[in-house]
Amino acid sequence: MRVLLVEDDRPVADALSLGLTRHGYDVTWTATGRAALAAPEPDMVLLDLGLPDIDGLDVCRELRARGDVPLIIVSGRDSETERVVGLELGADDYLVKPVLLRELVARMRAVHRRQHSVPTTGPARELDVYGRLSVDRPARRVYLAGTEVPLRPKEFTLLVFLTDRLDTVVTREAIMDAVWDSNWYGSTKTLDTHVTVLRRKLFGALRIESVRGVGFRAVVERAAAGVS
Ligand code: CA
Repeated sequence: MRVLLVEDDRPVADALSLGLTRHGYDVTWTATGRAALAAPEPDMVLLDLGLPDIDGLDVCRELRARGDVPLIIVSGRDSETERVVGLELGADDYLVKPVLLRELVARMRAVHRRQHSVPTTGPARELDVYGRLSVDRPARRVYLAGTEVPLRPKEFTLLVFLTDRLDTVVTREAIMDAVWDSNWYGSTKTLDTHVTVLRRKLFGALRIESVRGVGFRAVVERAAAGVS
């Protein structure tokens, strides 16, 4: 996912860029509102409000006038008014700095999911479909061609982490960080065990490739997906 980070504070921008890149995002950084408006449209915008040239709220308004790119305001401004105005201008979410990377990533995924959820009749289900594989995140259930596959909690979390980054190599460290506790000092054999189990349970639907010396890459088995 291509993320446009609009942030004039260099250390903050560097930290967020690094962290998001580790989570598999493709980050472009701009320090001004003008540069943000001139940039090619990304898949998501993270927007600071206090910018040196144009106020972030005006950048937000302009981007909204152009289209519905997912946009999260990440600002030091913590007033209720700013939040309300930001959301009224069409921001999908509003986070106050300092932000925790994990929190930011969770909000980005939520916004992305809302944009991609298929409207259904009846109660809204946020079902993510990858070929024959369907993931019901709120219920933490996984289906293979309509049949539920029982997953343990960590297996489910690992699956979601990988499917959020399809066709992207994710490092073992990034996975350990996101799926296990960041102060997990145990053996990464645990990760290999979970990958092995997921491969077996999701055989024919999702391929988890090992990338030697780096990590893993999840690929949807298109051939098995049939015509859809
Ligand atoms: Ca700023």
